[in-house]
Amino acid sequence: MRTIAIGTLIGLAAAAIVTAAPADAAEHPRLDRLVKLQDIRRHQHDLQKIADYNGGTRAAGEPGFEVSTQYIVKQLKKAGYRPKVQDFPFAYFKERTPAVFDRPGGPVYKYGTDYATLDFSGTGDVTATAHAVDPDGTGVGSGCEPADFAGFTKGDIALVKRGGCTFSDKTSNAQTAGAAAIAIYNDGAAPDRMGPVEGTAGQAWQIPIIGPTYQLGTDLVKASADGTLKLHIKTNTINEQRTAHNVIADTDRGRADNVIVMGAHLDSVTKGPGINDNGSGTATVLTVAEQISQLGREIKNKVRFAFWGAEEEGLLGSTYYVTHLSAAQKATIALNLNFDMLGSPNGRRGVYDGDDSEGSGTNPPAGSGAIEKVFNDYYGERKLPTSPSVFDGRSDYGPFIDNGIPAGGLDSGAEKLKTPEEATIYGGEAGKPYDGCYHQACDTYANNNATILDQLSDGAAYAVQVLAKSTLPVNGERSAVRQAAARPAAQAAPAGLVTR
Ligand SMILES: [Zn+2]
Repeated sequence: MRTIAIGTLIGLAAAAIVTAAPADAAEHPRLDRLVKLQDIRRHQHDLQKIADYNGGTRAAGEPGFEVSTQYIVKQLKKAGYRPKVQDFPFAYFKERTPAVFDRPGGPVYKYGTDYATLDFSGTGDVTATAHAVDPDGTGVGSGCEPADFAGFTKGDIALVKRGGCTFSDKTSNAQTAGAAAIAIYNDGAAPDRMGPVEGTAGQAWQIPIIGPTYQLGTDLVKASADGTLKLHIKTNTINEQRTAHNVIADTDRGRADNVIVMGAHLDSVTKGPGINDNGSGTATVLTVAEQISQLGREIKNKVRFAFWGAEEEGLLGSTYYVTHLSAAQKATIALNLNFDMLGSPNGRRGVYDGDDSEGSGTNPPAGSGAIEKVFNDYYGERKLPTSPSVFDGRSDYGPFIDNGIPAGGLDSGAEKLKTPEEATIYGGEAGKPYDGCYHQACDTYANNNATILDQLSDGAAYAVQVLAKSTLPVNGERSAVRQAAARPAAQAAPAGLVTR
């Protein structure tokens, strides 16, 4: 992992303070220069420490998220803001102890290797006959139709193959048919559909839900053919309603009827501290908030800094925020800028594909392409190539574009693999994930590429400065009320959630 020479950077900054700034720099402050890597790294370091002392996670519903929220509030107050904390309820899920899965008198399967527990699994300890439910997936798919459970004996364990409908649909049908537990095994339909099924069943269920591998599931279906296969599944989970928060703070300056919302999600996943995902975006937005007052009267449009909660649970904080705006409030939002993962170790300079040149299918609101151009012009000027990032609504800009509000942003990549072409452009390793620690315990302070983080945070700062001055190319600026056009809900699953 790459480390950065913090000492050197601090030395340079100190020198810059001692040296009088040139007159034109004072008159024309540049936010991309005011937003410094060392400040972003310091905030990331603080978030790491918060995670370290709070069970290694900053996930919504956990103490690490509460302390992270307090941290943002205190930093914003220190910078002169009057931050607001917006609470919202959400369905919290956690596995108390790892699930157990075995064949009584036979093999004991390995948690995490042979099977996983699906989110929102119920608690139970079941030993029962296993019944394969339409393993060929005739019709819609295995376990997708109530008719698939015809002849199912109440109290049995349902063996269901992934595919055709959501995990929630399959579980609902199984529970209705009287299944005591459900094992949704992988379908082997793609290289990434061989291992244990890790995903979400969408809402709290009574029965245990585990996800065996394709191989194990297929073997068990064969073994169950004569109706004598017994299985043992034990789960111990928490399903309860908890409260998460968004933190929101506005600049004093700027038009309140043409607001730029600059956001990043504050929460991590349960498995790790989330210092790239999304300590990098969080620290960048916070640092921009700390520096922006230096632009003075250049801020023509109000900038609203938003730190979203429970993004990892399905964009819950940003969705709550957008859907709880009145039509009049919604009409005051000019655009949304989103920053989620800016320091991926094997990353790239990704710009959200607002003009839909890649055809990602979300039909972005007009103006999103203009935001993409703001970023691309900046990097073009600096001779730094960029790549379009699929604009599929899988981060907190999703609820904005769903409500007709143009959006844009940057990201350095998540679990997808770097292409050979990208390795030529950006360096790093082709065929490896942009972030090999995505959603894992190793997403720490060290799991950040300082160069890419520096470049992407510069672009974020630049775009905010340009758009705070004028949003003319994005929304025509002076049109008083924009129609909040109704768009169909995005079909794509929210960030990081595997639902089918
Ligand atoms: Zn994220």
